[in-house]
Amino acid sequence: MSKQRFDGRNVDQIRAVKMTNNYLIHAEGSVLIEMGLTKVICTASVEEKTAQHLRGSGKGWVTAEYGMLPRSTGTRKMRDSTRGKVDGRTMEIQRLIGRALRSVVDMEKMGERTIWIDCDVIQADGGTRTASITGAFVAMLEAFRKLKEAGTIAEIPVKNYVSAISIGKVSDEILLDLCYEEDSRAQVDMNVVMTDQGEYIELQGTGEDAPFKASELSAMLALAEKGCKELMEAQKQIIGDLI
Ligand code: UDP
Repeated sequence: MSKQRFDGRNVDQIRAVKMTNNYLIHAEGSVLIEMGLTKVICTASVEEKTAQHLRGSGKGWVTAEYGMLPRSTGTRKMRDSTRGKVDGRTMEIQRLIGRALRSVVDMEKMGERTIWIDCDVIQADGGTRTASITGAFVAMLEAFRKLKEAGTIAEIPVKNYVSAISIGKVSDEILLDLCYEEDSRAQVDMNVVMTDQGEYIELQGTGEDAPFKASELSAMLALAEKGCKELMEAQKQIIGDLI
């Protein structure tokens, strides 16, 4: 029998997930995603211009930015605008979000336009990058639906659902969906991005405190698949079929 977790969850249990669609009035897509105490606002904005390197190719682009509000964290985090630069972690996370979403979008079908994804963490309690991906997928879909309704695109250019979850080894136990208290003392920390076909888009696994075995990796991947599937069920409640 495994120990009870810090917040009373089972080892294989994700935090309560809630996605509020159309959270804001201006963006074409907007979602407030809450995973336990982690809260991220995800917006999707349409720009009728593709990325520089794709002009004339007939292809569109999906790109993402990520940020944390100063008091989303336990101690105030200085704004990038005040510090004058974007830190490495932020850069890494926003590129991850962009890659995750692009992997399921048909760039030709979306046409020469850009979807700008903005993920803004209003409260951080671990798993902000994975919550960002899960919420941003819904916001992106909503933006594509608006384009379809306006007759700008013929069909939704999204092939698969995408969600993401963290897994880790804490006190020698493999846990699904780490909160900050667990994340901060994790021996191994992983983030997994998956499609609804059970295929991987990205795996990030780090032996923070100690190396990990192939058998532990398998156990983590099994938990990740469970978590991602549950998150996709929550996304489907909002989006339905990808049409
Ligand atoms: N965190 C923080 N300040 C920071 C960066 C992270 O308080 O500048 C906390 C926050 O709760 C975050 C957690 O540490 O969710 C784990 O950070 P990590 O870089 O692993 O990203 P995340 O798990 O949020 O994707």
